[in-house]
Amino acid sequence: MTTSKMAVPSRQIAFVVDLNKCIGCQTCTVACKRLWTGHPGQAFMYWRNVETAPGQGYPRNWTAKGGGYKNGDLQKGKRPTEADYGIPFEFDYEGRLFEGKAGRVRPSPSPRNAPNWDEEQGAGAYPNNHFFFMPRMCNHCSNPACLEACPNDAIYRRLQDGINVINLDKCKGTAACVEACPYGKAFFNANDLKGNKCIGCYPRIEKGVASACVAQCVGRAMHVGFLDDKASSVFKLVNVFKVALPLYPELGTKPNVFYVPPAFGPMEEDAQGLSTGKPKLPQALLEKMFGSEVGAALALLRAERGRRMAGSASELMDTLIGHRSADMMISPLT
Ligand code: SF4
Ligand code: SF4
Repeated sequence: MTTSKMAVPSRQIAFVVDLNKCIGCQTCTVACKRLWTGHPGQAFMYWRNVETAPGQGYPRNWTAKGGGYKNGDLQKGKRPTEADYGIPFEFDYEGRLFEGKAGRVRPSPSPRNAPNWDEEQGAGAYPNNHFFFMPRMCNHCSNPACLEACPNDAIYRRLQDGINVINLDKCKGTAACVEACPYGKAFFNANDLKGNKCIGCYPRIEKGVASACVAQCVGRAMHVGFLDDKASSVFKLVNVFKVALPLYPELGTKPNVFYVPPAFGPMEEDAQGLSTGKPKLPQALLEKMFGSEVGAALALLRAERGRRMAGSASELMDTLIGHRSADMMISPLT
């Protein structure tokens, strides 16, 4: 349930990820990593990651970690282990470059997991195997389980943009947020015994500059803007066309990251190698992830692409294409 400590921001920033355009290049992952999580205790930490769906994800099997809300009640959830995150590799550069040694120092024993360990593995049997790339970040939820769970009131919603951040001065390292976030996007820094999470690049947002993952996206797969800005692409995709949907909405946190489901993948083949006219990617998988509205979103996306290919105008397709990258990012705040 939403409690009194859950202040309501005057504006809400939101992100849209077009899963039809993500190419899994990890540029967003690296942009975020370089900018924010290079400090001691953060080596394992990816505030932004791109995993393969279906797949184990990062942290491993995060969909089974628990947390979030059930019938409006906060759920405790589990804290992922070091192995769930994947033990960071350390390389013996000196030995490798100058002494002819074969380089890797850690992990020992051999790693059995790492972020994106199962990249492009997917599911199904050839020739009908399938997967898609699934970028993930903190959802800057409107009903954040991390905030609700914190016994020290160290997490707060920024009133000017709805970005959820941890006040490190108030954080006592309880890690209740790590347990409660059902998306595995609150982390524990064992170096300084503090919770860490995505800050939505708020110093950039305050200047009207897009978050690093959005700005660096080579696939132009991301949009960022304010949900009350009717001219923004996020408003149109979420509220007008309704093709951008939250991930696992039943977890009850009211995410503000929305996904345009993959609608244009290859078709299933029969034993003769002929198309059956049915997408390889099962719609049931997408319904499980993005809810029952995914069918209508897929139908509209396919119909509008058909119209566009036939030479008709389509505002939806033009919005998703993003002819000018500036149109996909926040308007000036004033
Ligand atoms: S995704 Fe997790 S860490 Fe981010 S606001 Fe929601 S509950 Fe909190
Ligand atoms: S930068 Fe864009 S295209 Fe590349 S992995 Fe990230 S979201 Fe996908």
